[in-house]
Amino acid sequence: MKIFMNTGGLAATNAYLVADDTMGQAAVIDAPRKTLAPLLRIAAKHHWTITYLLLTHGHWDHIGDHKVLTDAWPQAKVLIHRLDEPKLLKPGSMFYPLKYVIPARRADGYLEDGQTITMGKVQLEVLHTPGHSPGHVALYCRAEGELFAGDLLFTQSIGRTDLPDSSPADMRRSLQRILQLPQATVVRPGHGAPTTLRTERRDNPFLTPG
Ligand SMILES: [Zn+2]
Ligand SMILES: [Zn+2]
Repeated sequence: MKIFMNTGGLAATNAYLVADDTMGQAAVIDAPRKTLAPLLRIAAKHHWTITYLLLTHGHWDHIGDHKVLTDAWPQAKVLIHRLDEPKLLKPGSMFYPLKYVIPARRADGYLEDGQTITMGKVQLEVLHTPGHSPGHVALYCRAEGELFAGDLLFTQSIGRTDLPDSSPADMRRSLQRILQLPQATVVRPGHGAPTTLRTERRDNPFLTPG
């Protein structure tokens, strides 16, 4: 699996391009505003076909460029968990008006816990990890030990749970669940640098018991 990252938007959010280079199939994970054009150029250079935009959740800083992808790849499917689709139907911040418009759209389909998304030989398992947002998902490539964690887990931090539809109790359960994955798993978060489960188990103040 090939992985490229680009970061942008007001919240410095990460977008990922993941591909099976041998089969020429690719997907984009999250679409922060003004981040996708360079990733689409990388895909074009490799002659990859982008078949999915996978949204870890519906917050405005993760969805701003969805139309950039579907304008370039009209056949690509935009997938999100059903519980976060309302944020895609009515994009925006819960706290302040955005200075730009994110086009509203329906999902082309839903990400559900236990589902597997396939691009060529690359398989991403959908883990429903609510807490930060009710329809938050993480995408796990078991074969290569890679977890696209969205706003669940960051280097030395975790996603905020003080939003109107957050749930600290769900967040604890979601974190417990992903901590069961192999400790060498590389965590690629929605904000900040990659880390590993082992490192976070040791260093993350939000994961240390008590
Ligand atoms: Zn978020
Ligand atoms: Zn975010």
